[in-house]
Amino acid sequence: MEFQDSPELAAFRAEVLDFLEKELTDEFLQPDEAVLGVGVGEDATDKEWLKKLATRGWVAPAWPKEYGGAGLSTAKQFVLNEELARARAARPNFLGIGLIGPTIVVHGNEEQKKEHLSGLLSGDVYWCQGFSEPESGSDLASLQTKAVKDGDEFVISGQKIWTTGAHRADMIGLLARTDPDAPNHKGISYFLVDMKSPGISVRPLTNMADMHSFNEVFFDNVRVPKTAILGELNRGWYVATTTLDFERSGILNAISLQQLMLEVIDATRQFRNGSPLVRHAIADRMIEIEVAIMLSYRVASMQEKGLIPNQEASITKLFASELAQRIGQTAMGLAGLHGQLGPGSPYAPLMGRIERMYRVQVGATLAGGTSEIQRGIIAQRGLGLPR
Ligand SMILES: Cc1cc2nc3c(=O)[nH]c(=O)nc-3n(C[C@H](O)[C@H](O)[C@H](O)COP(=O)(O)OP(=O)(O)OC[C@H]3O[C@@H](n4cnc5c(N)ncnc54)[C@H](O)[C@@H]3O)c2cc1C
Repeated sequence: MEFQDSPELAAFRAEVLDFLEKELTDEFLQPDEAVLGVGVGEDATDKEWLKKLATRGWVAPAWPKEYGGAGLSTAKQFVLNEELARARAARPNFLGIGLIGPTIVVHGNEEQKKEHLSGLLSGDVYWCQGFSEPESGSDLASLQTKAVKDGDEFVISGQKIWTTGAHRADMIGLLARTDPDAPNHKGISYFLVDMKSPGISVRPLTNMADMHSFNEVFFDNVRVPKTAILGELNRGWYVATTTLDFERSGILNAISLQQLMLEVIDATRQFRNGSPLVRHAIADRMIEIEVAIMLSYRVASMQEKGLIPNQEASITKLFASELAQRIGQTAMGLAGLHGQLGPGSPYAPLMGRIERMYRVQVGATLAGGTSEIQRGIIAQRGLGLPR
C-alpha cells in the first residue's frame, strides 16, 4: 500500500478539508455513542448535514452517480471517510446509509433502488436492521421469524431484538424464514418492510448507559407484498452477508477513536501527576490506535484492488472494538473519581462523555458479531484451523 497521497488524492483531500472548514459547524458533530457505533442520537440536524454532503454526492460516496452517490474510487472514499472522522462529522443513520443502502445497491432491482435510495440519502426515510432474535444472535441462521406466502403477499410473524433505532425507523431490513424445510442458511429471505405496517409493535430496551438506542420488535401477521423481497427468495442469507461485510470494515472507527483519545488526554491533564504508569498507558493506547488505523488501511487497500476483505475485516472489527473498551478504561483511570461524573455535572471532564463512553462501549464487542465470533472467523478462514 502507498501511504502518501498521489497528486490526485492530495487535491481531493484538500477539497474535502475546504468543505469541512466551511460547512462543519458544531451542531453537525457526532456524539461519542455514535463514534462507538452503538448509539442513536436525537439528530434533528441530520437532514441539514446530509443536504450539505449531498451537494457533492458524499452522503454515500461509493454509490454510483445515477443513484445519488459520487461513484468515488475506494481510495477517495477512504480519504473522505478519514477526514470526516477526523473532523468528527456526524454520520446520520449509519445503519441505513452505510449498511442497508449499499446492500440494496448490490442486490436490489431497479424499482427497489428507485423507491428506497433517494429517501435514504436525504434522511427522509430512516432504516433499522432486523436480524437478531432472542434465540438467534451469533447463530443468526437459526432465526425463527417466519414469512408464509399467501397469494402475492407474505405474512410475517415473530420477534426481533436489539434492533437499533427501530423506535424511530420508517423501514426495516428484515430476515425471515421462508422455507422451514430447507437447511438453515438456505430457507431465509431478506425483506424491506414498512415499519407502519399493521401488526408491527416496538418495545424499548434501555442499555447499561441508561440510553434507549435498541428495541424489541414484534411481528403479528404482518402482510407485505412479495415485491418487498430483496434479492432472490430463500437467498436472503447471502444478501445479509453483504450487509455484515460492510458492517465490519470501517476506517471511521479507528480515526474516531484517535480523536477521542486526544480529547481525553487534553481534558484529563489537570488530574495527572506525571506518573510513568500513566504515561505508559497513554502511549500504549496511542500505539494501539495506530495499529487499528493500519488494519483499516489494509482493508481499504484490498477493496481498492477489487478483493473482498473477510478475515481482514474481522481482525479490524475485533481489534478496534476491544481497543475502544481499553480506551474507556484508560480514560476513566486518567480522570480519577471525576471520571465517574456523568453528563449534567459541571465537574465532569469532557461534559460527562468519559463516563458515558465507558458504559456505552460495553456493547461494542457484541454489536456486528461478538469478539468470539470474529476470532472463530480469523481462526478458520485466516489460519485454516478446523471448525
Ligand atoms: C449495541 C448493540 C446494537 C445492536 N444492534 C443490532 C441491530 O440493529 N440489529 C440486529 O439485528 N442486531 C443488533 N445487535 C445484536 C447483535 O448482533 C448480537 O448481540 C450479537 O450478534 C450477539 O448475539 P447474542 O446477543 O444473541 O449473543 P449469543 O449469540 O447468545 O452469544 C452469547 C455469548 O456466547 C458466545 N458465543 C456464541 N456462539 C459462539 C461460538 N460459536 N463460539 C464462541 N463463542 C460463542 C458469544 O460470543 C457471547 O459471548 C446489537 C447488539 C448490540 C450490543
